[in-house]
Amino acid sequence: MKRRSVMPNVKDWKGPKSVCSCGHYGDGTNSHHEDRYGLAICGGHGKCTYPGCTCEMFTWERWTDPFKDALDAERVAKARKAVGR
Ligand SMILES: [Zn+2]
Ligand SMILES: [Zn+2]
Repeated sequence: MKRRSVMPNVKDWKGPKSVCSCGHYGDGTNSHHEDRYGLAICGGHGKCTYPGCTCEMFTWERWTDPFKDALDAERVAKARKAVGR
C-alpha cells in the first residue's frame, strides 16, 4: 500500500509563516514586511508595508495558526520515526 502524506510540507510552505508584534505577517508568501538585506537576506524581516503601519522592523510574535499546525504535525511525524513506528 502506498503511503500518503496528509501533513502540510513545512519546507515548501506556501503562505505566511510568522506574525510580527505589529500584528501583520512576517516571513513567507503574502508577507506584509519587506525583505531585510544584511549578511543574509531575511525574507519578510524588514519594514512593514501594511498601509498605515509604523512598524520599522519585523519582531517575531508567533507562528500563524496553519503553519504552527504544520510544524506540530512534522514534530509528531519525526518523533514517530525516531521510535520506529
Ligand atoms: Zn505592521
Ligand atoms: Zn511589523
